[in-house]
Amino acid sequence: MKLRNTISSVELIEVEMPLVHPFRTSFGVEKSTYSILVKITDSEGKIGWGETTISKTPGYSSETNETAWHIQRDFLLPLLQELLKSNNSPTIQDILGNWDSVRGHEMAKGGIEASVWSLFAEQENVSLGKLYGGSKTQIPTGVSIGIQTDLDKLIARIGSFIDKGYQRIKIKIEPGWDVNAVKRIRQEFGDIKLMVDANSAYSLSDHHIKVLKDLDRYEMMMIEQPLAYHDMLDHKKLQTMLSTPVCLDESIHSPHDARVALEYETCKIINIKPGRVGGFANAIEIAEIGGKDVVWCGGMLETGIGRLHNLHFQSRSEFNIPGDTSGSDRYYAQDIIEPKVEVDENGFIQVPTAKGLGAMVREDVIMQYTTRSLGIKF
Ligand SMILES: [Mg+2]
Repeated sequence: MKLRNTISSVELIEVEMPLVHPFRTSFGVEKSTYSILVKITDSEGKIGWGETTISKTPGYSSETNETAWHIQRDFLLPLLQELLKSNNSPTIQDILGNWDSVRGHEMAKGGIEASVWSLFAEQENVSLGKLYGGSKTQIPTGVSIGIQTDLDKLIARIGSFIDKGYQRIKIKIEPGWDVNAVKRIRQEFGDIKLMVDANSAYSLSDHHIKVLKDLDRYEMMMIEQPLAYHDMLDHKKLQTMLSTPVCLDESIHSPHDARVALEYETCKIINIKPGRVGGFANAIEIAEIGGKDVVWCGGMLETGIGRLHNLHFQSRSEFNIPGDTSGSDRYYAQDIIEPKVEVDENGFIQVPTAKGLGAMVREDVIMQYTTRSLGIKF
């Protein structure tokens, strides 16, 4: 697919959106999310929207809102302007190839790339899901629950999400908040679909191996990223010690990483976050490499725009493991899209069928949360 009309402007809009509940993981607490929204407008006035799924601190990834802003403003957008001078109908691959001189910075690339997909969908008059290769009308979904102050609060929170219909519960763990929590969940809720995410909080020390082997007894769907955030070797060693599948998140930055991880049996499952792997073209490639029962789609506390992109992406046939794309109200009092994303009582989210993102972007609401913006004429 090629760009039909040339790009007339790109706007970077940084927003700070307060979370309904602070989200605590093994690497820190987030009270708000910081995203850089990308608004891309073509010569006919059609608009595409993308979201750069970064954080304020380099706890999950080495990228932050400051690094992404710098890389997008000073490198990626000038390179895109340069490309359009010689090629006014580039494909996504042309755009990504043109960014090869920028090493890393996957999330910065992914935010702009997503906006181009969204513009393509507007220009072609089709839903974004169709462009992402999807055909499912609804996707199964779960919820990711941060570390709480005590087990009773955790149990109450899980109960409220099960009541809302969520199909799978994922809890964040760290040393000291792991076996006790999982044991209690199994006591209270029986054999619900359950998984844990350690965000790299463990090592192959004797003590940690004992804890991870204790967790292995609770028949969970997977243990996500227990070891170091770039590691492939120790996770492979750990996988041979556990019957619970190891899932990699932070370690996978590209389709190549996904091939290495699966061919070397470093893990059995991959959590795809499109931003972390440089955008949706790479995310689709990883989905094809992994296939059904191997890949699923995680989340980065996205606002409505990133949430809609992830929803369309998960309409692909590979996604039958419930993902982390929760309803808008799980994170935000007010979302920047309308209608907001809602989970039905059976834990499914309907995939919008209208063209483009399939929902209206509320620029008036975005303005309320904007911390800075930059418009660039093309
Ligand atoms: Mg994770």
